[in-house]
Amino acid sequence: MKTAVVTGGSGFLGSHLCDKLLSEGLKVICIDNLITGNVDNISHLAGNENFAFIKHDITNYIFIPGKVDYILHFASPASPVDYLQLPIQTLKVGSLGTHKALGLAKEKKARILLASTSEVYGDPEIHPQPEEYWGNVNPIGPRGVYDEAKRFAEAITMAYQRYHNVETRIARIFNTFGPRMRAKDGRAIPNFIMQALTGQPITVYGDGSQTRSFCYITDQVDGLFKLLMSEEDEPVNIGNPEEIPLIEIAKEIIELTNSKSKIIFEELPVNDPKVRQPDITKARTKLGWEPKVNRLEGLKKTIQYFKELI
Ligand code: UDP
Repeated sequence: MKTAVVTGGSGFLGSHLCDKLLSEGLKVICIDNLITGNVDNISHLAGNENFAFIKHDITNYIFIPGKVDYILHFASPASPVDYLQLPIQTLKVGSLGTHKALGLAKEKKARILLASTSEVYGDPEIHPQPEEYWGNVNPIGPRGVYDEAKRFAEAITMAYQRYHNVETRIARIFNTFGPRMRAKDGRAIPNFIMQALTGQPITVYGDGSQTRSFCYITDQVDGLFKLLMSEEDEPVNIGNPEEIPLIEIAKEIIELTNSKSKIIFEELPVNDPKVRQPDITKARTKLGWEPKVNRLEGLKKTIQYFKELI
């Protein structure tokens, strides 16, 4: 049996990845310091003999006995609200944490997949964003702590590939949503759903004309797994190219929840990207992957999850 280590394994993406890896017949060791992760996301795995949980901050040395075949490095605050409140931790996990995860990969001769992000493209001047685009990031802006940490993470990952011959994979993950996002996550979809379900005003930042492209979690995890198992050792965008203005997402959620909530407009966060859409040609051709779940179907499942949380 192959063994995978998932850092950030009790977070939103990480916990779904743990489920996917177990269903593919792997043993899974989940590491999380629970700053933004939540053990409720993995509690259904307690007692599974192929699953283990270690509470640990991966910016410190990681010790794992025995063989490890795959490392999926997903530890990081990922909501803008979180990384604005945890700027130093965000920088540390992206830099020191990635260094430790790569060190573990080198020691174990394991293949490592880095969770990178569409934020490496910043507020993009090329649209949609292909992997060849180098990005437009403000290094000293409030989002710089996340963007630059992930850009550093990509750089050190490529250095370990080139100088230590570690087998590396880099996923540039675009906006993803689904069950297990936190009610107070701060990102647009969980905010809008919680506000709609509890009769609070829907907080659209700016005029809502900024766009994003939202991928449902099961599609995202399938894409990540395909990338892990592929021979593609340069960054690959994983996301859903269907782009929508934020105001439209707010309206869709009001309609799907039959909510009486009104939309209110609040200040746009500093350096909030105006547009975002992945060019997924590479994922389509190299991985044979593309998203299957349409947004409304995904939103319905996510709304159901939040209904049960309330
Ligand atoms: N946003 C919003 N209202 C909210 C939360 C977010 O209008 O309550 C906007 C945010 O300014 C951004 C978009 O929704 O333009 C997506 O934000 P999110 O925090 O989900 O992630 P991002 O794509 O910015 O990393």
